[in-house]
Amino acid sequence: MCHPADPTSHPHAHSHNHVAHDARSSRRDFLRTMSSALAGASLLELAYHRAAWARAAAPASDDALFTIQKVTGGIYFAHAHPQAMINCNAAIFVRSKDVVVVDAHSKPSAAASLIRHIEREVTPKPVRYVINTHFHWDHTLGNQAYRAAGQPVDFIASNTTKQLMSELSIARLKASIDGIPAQVDKLRDRAARSSNPAEKAFCDEQIRQMQAYAVELRDFHLELPTITFDTSYLLPDPAFDLHVEFHGHSHTAGDVFVFCPQARAIATGDAIHGFLPNFGDGYPRPWPSTIDSVAHADFRFQMGGHGPYQTDRTVMTCQRNYIEELTSRVADGKTAGLSLAEMQQRITVASLRSLQSNGYQDFLIRTRDESEPHFGPVAPLQDGVNANIRDVLANLDHV
Ligand SMILES: [Zn+2]
Repeated sequence: MCHPADPTSHPHAHSHNHVAHDARSSRRDFLRTMSSALAGASLLELAYHRAAWARAAAPASDDALFTIQKVTGGIYFAHAHPQAMINCNAAIFVRSKDVVVVDAHSKPSAAASLIRHIEREVTPKPVRYVINTHFHWDHTLGNQAYRAAGQPVDFIASNTTKQLMSELSIARLKASIDGIPAQVDKLRDRAARSSNPAEKAFCDEQIRQMQAYAVELRDFHLELPTITFDTSYLLPDPAFDLHVEFHGHSHTAGDVFVFCPQARAIATGDAIHGFLPNFGDGYPRPWPSTIDSVAHADFRFQMGGHGPYQTDRTVMTCQRNYIEELTSRVADGKTAGLSLAEMQQRITVASLRSLQSNGYQDFLIRTRDESEPHFGPVAPLQDGVNANIRDVLANLDHV
């Protein structure tokens, strides 16, 4: 999936200890200069320019791809900033002699940027293992940067993920690159129609990012997992152990979780994350019980593949209940002979109890708004739910 870029760098509700303090004083100077220049700009324009300031204050443009946050002793979270070609978050585990990174983003240069973030803000220890939670491009296409870094490195995934990467990664990458010219045309039209300078600048930046992606990925080399397993793989270390575990079908057929019992932390990829779940390759029926199985582990810190990390289980439980409720509503609709359009009309945000409970709807809107800039009316959450209904219906028989 492709998210529009806006690098809303404003700190969100879940932002914790930012490790990156170094750019702050220069950012302040820049803000002062720019504030007077922009004195009549609309709020939307200001929001856009705020993001531009944050980018300009970073040491190099691609180094603004992540914010590194300390989660707990030895464990860090790289929260991905929005990009035209979306990057996933990474979980970073600093062990006694080396580092384990969970997930590898959508392109080698993003992974190379994370390697520099780690060296600069976390530890000089080398990255020894990269875990791919699942086969999706925005979690795996950066693998080769770790190989290129020149240290011994192994890539860990489930057997299923390795198989899906072998079968699908190259074809899907080709399809996504082939789709870029059409997206660029749309953005050019949008820029031409818009009278908002900030929106025009946003479109230009999206186009630049997409074209740079297409150029970079021309030389792509698929780096497949080197260590694979069916149900679990243990990475022991004097600092703490990491249990890489498959708990059943969920977001894909091969998602794994990385659990650290000593730190009560878990990396969950896209099986549990901070956006609406994505069912494109998903298994809607077994997914809730896969989350139930993961929930037996004793953890407090939950680091998902997208959106902010969590310090309790509220979002995880909300997501689990949403998947279960939506799947049962779609299954009922199918039994009753409803068309997709009829289901999308009846299964509304307001009618989904799981979205209305424990602040889940507000949370999803907030994380979505932090990942996309808005010009004019904001797309309703129903759009995302409608896409979910479509995908759940298509994959209802996946078991
Ligand atoms: Zn995914």
